This record gives sequence, structure tokens and C-alpha cells, in this order.
Amino acid sequence: MWLDKRYHSLDYELKKIFGTKVIKLSVDGGFTCPTRDGSKGYGGCIFCSSRGSGEFSGDRALPIKSQLKNQISLLKEKWSEAKYIVYFQNFSNTYADIKTLKEKYDEALEFDNVVGLAIATRGDCLDKDVIKLLKTYNEKTFLWVEIGLQSIHKHSEEFIRRGYGLEAFDGAISALNQNNIRTVAHLILNLPNETKKHYIETLNYLVEKQIWGIKLHMLHILKNTDLESYYKIHPFDIMDADAYISLICDLISIIPEEIVIHRLTGDGSKEDLIAPLWSANKRYILNGINKELAKRNLTQGCNL
Ligand code: SF4
Repeated sequence: MWLDKRYHSLDYELKKIFGTKVIKLSVDGGFTCPTRDGSKGYGGCIFCSSRGSGEFSGDRALPIKSQLKNQISLLKEKWSEAKYIVYFQNFSNTYADIKTLKEKYDEALEFDNVVGLAIATRGDCLDKDVIKLLKTYNEKTFLWVEIGLQSIHKHSEEFIRRGYGLEAFDGAISALNQNNIRTVAHLILNLPNETKKHYIETLNYLVEKQIWGIKLHMLHILKNTDLESYYKIHPFDIMDADAYISLICDLISIIPEEIVIHRLTGDGSKEDLIAPLWSANKRYILNGINKELAKRNLTQGCNL
């Protein structure tokens, strides 16, 4: 159904739409977040690194075009026919005045073979003017907007210091949906005080909101984050790789077929990773998920 996979992967979806390999290029647009610049707080989300959840993006000090050029030069030999989607990954990429946003997005779209934009942001950084701007990009390119919700649960919202409530997320998703802009929501697994029941509740909630895509990944404890300090004082249980693989397979089986799965495991910087160390071996986890799905004869949405 989805070529060699038992789930509806982003790779499959993009090949279907563009008829060729499409590669995401992560850039740092030089933005910040309301929970970092003092407008709502300082320090950001508890797990977030100083690079704003984008360890592999281009160099923030460089213009977007130079960041793209550097990354493409490394890929060109293997993927000479590839097209690109520019992923504004670090920090909140709709958190600036409209003129600045427009300049950054335009700079990305002007680059050769760029066929779309992926914009990561927060539920409270999508006001009417930003939605209006995004609508114009949605009309001229392939666009999706990612929101790092992580959990619908109040205690987790407070624990991660997200800085906005579920109603802001709901408002943002509904405005994006009304304008036919694709949405991707992030869900973090293994938050302290969450269990499988909580993950399923968050997942079902997101499905009801008619998201286009989803990213699932473990909570990463990275060096020099507030989560590292918390973990030293309040160590909490961390799933092992087998438990994670099994949980992901259970979740895949209740995700409707039309939802595009963008990520099943995270890939934080290896030098900064404190736990879970097994998550550094992304290939092992993805192979494990594929094997387990086959062993249990599960496919995306089969248990709905
Ligand atoms: S919103 Fe994203 S980038 Fe900003 S502090 Fe939270 S996790 Fe980091």
C-alpha cells in the first residue's frame, strides 16, 4: 500500500506527489520563541537545547541561501535529481514581523529545485496576519506547518513549560485547516507522569483535529538543558528500545491511513544525548519497528 512500508511515510507521500526523491533541508531562520525572549518567559521548553530543537540545521549566522548551498553540495552527488523542501526548523519560525517572515520564506523559495516549505512553530505564534501570509505561500508552493504540541495533558503542558494552552493549539489548527494549509503535530513519548493511555488520548485528539501529518518521538534528555538538571534530581523511568518499538507499533495501528507519518523516532545530537542512548541508533529503531509491524501483521490504521 505504501511501497515497502506498513505505514504512510512522508517519503512515500512526497514521491507520490513529486514523482522523485524529495529531501528536506533544515535551516535556521534566526528566530526565537516567546518563552525565550521574555515575552512569555525565559529558558524555553524544558527539553529544548540552545539551538532551539534543530541540531542539524544550517548555521544561524549565515543567510538562508548559504545554508541551502552548503547542504546541497553534500547531497548533490548521491541525489542529483532530487527536489527540496526547505524546513524552517529551529525555534518558532512564524515569530517575527510579516516583512521578516516574507523575506526568509522568499529567499528559500528562490533557490533552485525548492518545491516547498515546512515551517515549524508554536500554537501561539499563528495570529490572523501570519495565517494570511501563510495562505499566500500555500497557494504558490507545497506548504506544511508543524506545531510542537507534544501532549494535550495539562500537567505535561506545565512540566514542559510550553507556555500556551490547548485552546491556542485548537485555534491555530482550525485557522490552518480553514485555509487548507497542511498541519503536522508533534507528540512526545515518555514524558514523566504519562503512560500509554495519555499518548493514545493525545493521538486521538490530534486525529479528531484532522491533522495532515504527525511526528512521534521519545523525550530526549540533552546536555545543558533544564531537563538534564531535573533528571539528575528526579530521575524517572525511561523506556527501553524494545518497549518503544512495541509502543510505536501499537500507535501506528490506530493512526488513520490518510495521516502522513513524518517521524517515528527522533535524532538528537549524539554528543549531547544523555538518555535514552539507544535512540542515537535511528536505523536500529526504524528497522525494529518495520520488523515488529511485520511480525504482528500490523499496518497503519488496522486496529481502528
Ligand atoms: S517552542 Fe520549540 S524551539 Fe521554542 S523553546 Fe519550545 S521546543 Fe524550543
